[in-house]
Amino acid sequence: MLDMPESVQTVLQKLESAGHEAWCVGGCVRDALLGRTPEDWDVTTSALPEETMALFGSHAFPTGVQHGTVTVRANHSSVEVTTYRLDGTYSDHRRPDTISFTRSLEEDLARRDFTVNAMAFSLRGELRDPFHGQEDLRRGMLRCVGDPDRRFGEDALRILRCLRFSAVLGFSVESATGKSLCRKRGLLRAIAVERIQAELWKLLCGGDAAKVLRAYPEVFGVFWPELLPMVGLDQRNPHHCYDVWEHTLHAVSAVQPEAILRCAVLLHDVGKPSCFTVDEDGIGHFYGHGAVSRDLTDQMLRRLKCSTQFRETVTRLVDWHDRNIPRTEKSIRRALRILGEEDLRRLIAVKRADNLAQAPAYWDRQRELDRAEEILEKLLAESACFSLKQLAVNGRDLLQMGLSGPAIGQTLDRLLDAVVNDELRNEREMLLENVRHTMENQE
Ligand code: ATP
Ligand code: MG
Repeated sequence: MLDMPESVQTVLQKLESAGHEAWCVGGCVRDALLGRTPEDWDVTTSALPEETMALFGSHAFPTGVQHGTVTVRANHSSVEVTTYRLDGTYSDHRRPDTISFTRSLEEDLARRDFTVNAMAFSLRGELRDPFHGQEDLRRGMLRCVGDPDRRFGEDALRILRCLRFSAVLGFSVESATGKSLCRKRGLLRAIAVERIQAELWKLLCGGDAAKVLRAYPEVFGVFWPELLPMVGLDQRNPHHCYDVWEHTLHAVSAVQPEAILRCAVLLHDVGKPSCFTVDEDGIGHFYGHGAVSRDLTDQMLRRLKCSTQFRETVTRLVDWHDRNIPRTEKSIRRALRILGEEDLRRLIAVKRADNLAQAPAYWDRQRELDRAEEILEKLLAESACFSLKQLAVNGRDLLQMGLSGPAIGQTLDRLLDAVVNDELRNEREMLLENVRHTMENQE
C-alpha cells in the first residue's frame, strides 16, 4: 500500500463515489514504490474536466483544461487531476498537435514516457502496470513505453528526462532506449531552452550525474558543443591523471549537489581545449584558460537563458577557480568583499573538487583550503567587516557631513576598502574623522 497523502485520498474517494475511475499515476507511484518521497501526486481519472470541475465546485480550478487538467484543493494542498488522455500526432517534436480524452486507463498509460512512469495505483491498493514498470523499477532501468525512436521523435524533451531520471535515480538506460536517444539527440534543438535548463540542473544534481555525462557527452553537445573538445584531451602534465573531461567529471562528483556549484565545476575547464600548448619537454600547458573558460561559460549560460544571478555566479566561480586561494586574513577579507560569504564558500568547494580530481600527489593543496576555511570561520565569528552594511558609518552620516550625490557611494566604498585592507579600523569616530580630513584636504 502506498503512503498517499490525505488530500490525494480525499480526491480519489470523491471521484470514485461519483462513479468515476481515479488513480494516482506517474512519478508519484514510481517514487513511492522506490521508497522516495514524491515531489507531487498526480491523479488520472475517467471523469471529463467539466465533470471534475462540477464535482469539486469552488475547490476546483481549471489550470490546464486544454490538456484535461483541473487543480483541486483538498486538505490544504493542491492535487492535479487529469482526464485519461490520448496524445494525437506530434509535428514539432515538442507537444501533441491535438489531444483527445478516452475512457481507457491503459491508453492514458501508453502515452507516458517511460515504463516506470506509466503505472497507476488506486485507493484499494490495486497497481495497474501494463508495461511492466515494476520489473524495470526492480532492475533499475529506464525504458521507453513503446518504440523509442517514435517516442523521442514525438517529444525530444524525453531525451533529457531519461538522462535526468538516470542521474537522479541511479538507473541504467535500456539499450534500445539509449541508442535511440543518441540517434535522436539533434531534435533537442526544437525544445525551448528554458525546459532544457530545468532538466539539466536536476540532472547535474543527481548522484549519478558524472556517469550520465560520461556515457552521453554528444547529447549535451547538442546545446553545449563547447564540452566536446574536452573529451579525451590528454593534459600531458604531472598534475593530472585524467584527460580534461574525465578530470571534470571526477570534480563534478566531488561537490555538493547544488546546481550553481555543479554547473561551475562542469564548466571550470571548458576553455582548456582552446588554450592547450605542449612545450619542448612534452609538458602540456593551458595558458590563460581561466579567462577563456569564463567567457565560454558566459556564452553557454546565455544560450540557455539562465537567470542573470545564476549566470554571473557561475561565471565568477569559473573565473576565480584558477587563481590562487587567498591565504591571509587580509586577502580573505578582500575576497569576501568581492564574492560575499556564500560564493567564497562555493569557490573553496570548487577548488577542493578541482584539486581532488587531480593526481593524488597534489592533494596536499587541500590543507591550504582547510587553512583558508579556518581563517574564514574566524573572521565571520569576529564579525569582521567586509560589506557596506557592516561599515560603522552609512550614507546618512556622510550626507550630514555635507557630502552628496555619487560622492557618498564613492566615499563609502573607499572607507570599506581601507577597512578591508587593514588601513582603518571599523570604528565610527575614526571613519568620520578620516572623511572630515579628506574633505578638508580637497577644499
Ligand atoms: P518529477 O516530478 O520527479 O520531476 P515525474 O515523473 O513526476 O518526475 P512530471 O513532469 O511531474 O514528472 O510528470 C508526471 C508524469 O507525467 C510522468 O511520470 C509521466 O508519466 C508523464 N509525463 C511527464 N512528462 C512527459 C513527457 N514529456 N512525455 C510523456 N509523459 C510525460
Ligand atoms: Mg511529478
